[in-house]
Amino acid sequence: MTPKKVIHLKKDCISCGACAAVSPKFWELDAEGMAQLKGAHEEGDHWRLDIENEKDIEENQEASDVCPVNIIHVKDVDEE
Ligand code: SF4
Repeated sequence: MTPKKVIHLKKDCISCGACAAVSPKFWELDAEGMAQLKGAHEEGDHWRLDIENEKDIEENQEASDVCPVNIIHVKDVDEE
């Protein structure tokens, strides 16, 4: 499987908790109630985590699909 990056525009999170509900392995709500992508680092205006395991990619794609404000993106690592 090609490595992917998970991008999270955390500042636009509305704290609905959907990502953490479908993917508790990767997503949790922080002390302020905002979603946090576990193990991610801050990069510019977003948070980023690189993954390559197929199941991990599927799980984060699912989190992306359920996010009502579309701020979770799973992309190729060299994609803008
Ligand atoms: S699904 Fe989207 S809006 Fe809801 S908590 Fe997760 S990142 Fe925030």
